[in-house]
Amino acid sequence: MSSLHPPTASPSVYKRDGFGLVYVNIRVPFVAIILYLAKRITLLQFLLYVDVKGGHSGSFPARRCAYHKCERGIAIIWHCGFIAHRRILAEALTHQALRAMGVEPRVYPCPGCDVCHHEYFPFLKVGGFAGLEWIIRAAIRATGQREIEK
Ligand SMILES: [Zn+2]
Repeated sequence: MSSLHPPTASPSVYKRDGFGLVYVNIRVPFVAIILYLAKRITLLQFLLYVDVKGGHSGSFPARRCAYHKCERGIAIIWHCGFIAHRRILAEALTHQALRAMGVEPRVYPCPGCDVCHHEYFPFLKVGGFAGLEWIIRAAIRATGQREIEK
C-alpha cells in the first residue's frame, strides 16, 4: 500500500524553476555487468540490478560532469532528455507519479560525493525506458507545456 507523498522539493525551490532538461539515465553496478557477461545471471536477473532516474538540470554539461565523481563501482548510462519549461516541477511530478504507482525509489549512499542524493527507481518497475518516458511526457504536459522536444 503506497501513499501520496508531497513533492520532495521545498516550495522555495520552485521560485528558481525554469527552462532546462528533464533527463533519464540508468545506473548499473559493475558487478551486474560482470556477472551477466560471465553468463552467471540471466538478462532478467541483470535488469533487476538496473535503476533508472528522471532528473532535472538547468546546465546539462555541468550536471553530467557532477556525476563523474559518483561513478565508483557503477556505470551511469545517459539515455535521453526532454526540454521542459518548468523542469523542477516536471521532475517532481514524475517522481510523484511513480510513487503513486507504488514504485518506491532506491536511495544509494554514494561513495563518490558522500550524499544519498540520487533517486533511482527500479528499471523494470517503471516499465523500462518507454514507461519512464511516457510518465515524463505526461508530467511535462501537466506543467502546462504543449510542445515536448526530446
Ligand atoms: Zn554521488
